[in-house]
Amino acid sequence: MPVTTIIEPFRIKSVEPIRMTTRPERERFLREAGYNGFLLRAEDVLIDLLTDSGTGAMSAEQWASIMRGDESYAGAKSYYRFADAIHEIFGFKHVLPTHQGRAAERILFTTMCKPGDVVPNNTHFDTTRANIEHVGAQAVDLPIPEGRQPATIHPFKGNMDVAALEALIGEVGRERIPLVMLTITNNSGGGQPVSMANVRAVRAVCQRYGIPLYIDACRFAENCWFIREREEGYAEKPVAEIARELFSYADGCTMSAKKDGLVNIGGFLATNDEALARQESRLLILTEGFPTYGGLAGRDLEAMATGLHEVLHEDYLRYRIASTAYLGRHLAEIGIPIVQPPGGHAVYIDAAALLPHVAPRMFPGQALLAEMYLEGGIRAVEIGSVMFGGTDPQTGEETTAPMELVRLAIPRRVYTQSHIDYVIEVMADVYAARERIGGLKIVWQAPPLRHFTARFEPVAAAHA
Ligand SMILES: *Cc1c(COP(=O)(O)O)cnc(C)c1O
Repeated sequence: MPVTTIIEPFRIKSVEPIRMTTRPERERFLREAGYNGFLLRAEDVLIDLLTDSGTGAMSAEQWASIMRGDESYAGAKSYYRFADAIHEIFGFKHVLPTHQGRAAERILFTTMCKPGDVVPNNTHFDTTRANIEHVGAQAVDLPIPEGRQPATIHPFKGNMDVAALEALIGEVGRERIPLVMLTITNNSGGGQPVSMANVRAVRAVCQRYGIPLYIDACRFAENCWFIREREEGYAEKPVAEIARELFSYADGCTMSAKKDGLVNIGGFLATNDEALARQESRLLILTEGFPTYGGLAGRDLEAMATGLHEVLHEDYLRYRIASTAYLGRHLAEIGIPIVQPPGGHAVYIDAAALLPHVAPRMFPGQALLAEMYLEGGIRAVEIGSVMFGGTDPQTGEETTAPMELVRLAIPRRVYTQSHIDYVIEVMADVYAARERIGGLKIVWQAPPLRHFTARFEPVAAAHA
């Protein structure tokens, strides 16, 4: 019989101990942190699923790259190795290194947008939206309707609604839309993929109106793996070839290499437009650094070049996507409601459905996080009314988010299957205790982005 077990396609050369804590200790740590995971010390967390950004493990080859880093101020060998990797994998003519994704976004939107402009995307990531709004433009999300329905299964739930894009262009006028963006994978919903057919369809609309198309490429390799697995005609193609085709439809991209660059820091901005690249270089020099290092050390560029090639290895991607699906499948089997199907880098739990007795204004997502930490030392993040709710400036009333989600993001190459089995076991206990989980109230906050620093206290469920 053929062997079907999908294993971690690496062995471990260097280990970082994680520390077990007792429940009484965790009760104290959580109380001291105001029931906010962002305020916990990382060493007091056993399994950290807060984010997949910059939390991955580098390979032996990447650590060797670190040693090879050329720290020359200008024209370093490491820059050319990095630029070659971008040309080879993405195909764009010009590339600017940046310290992370949001720096690439700021430079792109400062160069391309003016106040009153509109930038469509399947779904803007929060820093993308913030950088567009910062230059006085408007960020518009155009996901397909299925993308907004947690329980609906769709192979490419991250797709853009192409008809809605055409309607928007007709409504606001081509001259107000300096670029269209596509985020692959679509971060909302835990990394839902975009199909090649959708990229092509968006490209066709952009071409018809002469609007440049830019890709937010943070999780491009995971997206290309989903295309290989799910889209007709791609099952036999190497992932690198799928990526080349996908980026051939775009005029440029922004990238946070903290995701599919397999590094702890780094990013870039790429474009085929020479005049634009020159303008962007001037901004880069102003705040990031000289164009051949862009706010990074030479060693960071080396590690990124190596990581961008490694992330396309098929054994790695098979294991990566299988491990996310494994966690999702087991949580669903326990009875925990999750956003279906699980995406590339995270599993989202529908905390409102899991804890129907905790009203949104008592933060069911945050309450679930507290229980996960107390039960097993697991940290994750709330994407609900703590993050998106607040006090309405006009009415003074408390607003809540449309969904109360908890995201379990999986760092790359960091945890083994037994770590994930531990998470599943803890979540089964949390599920069994769900009726006893009470809500929380905010006792201190500092908007905007209050979720990073807010402090909470438990409220008795009876007060709901
Ligand atoms: C992380 C991320 C960004 C921003 O990148 P940073 O490196 O955190 O600045 C932009 N878009 C998406 C989809 C992301 O996931």
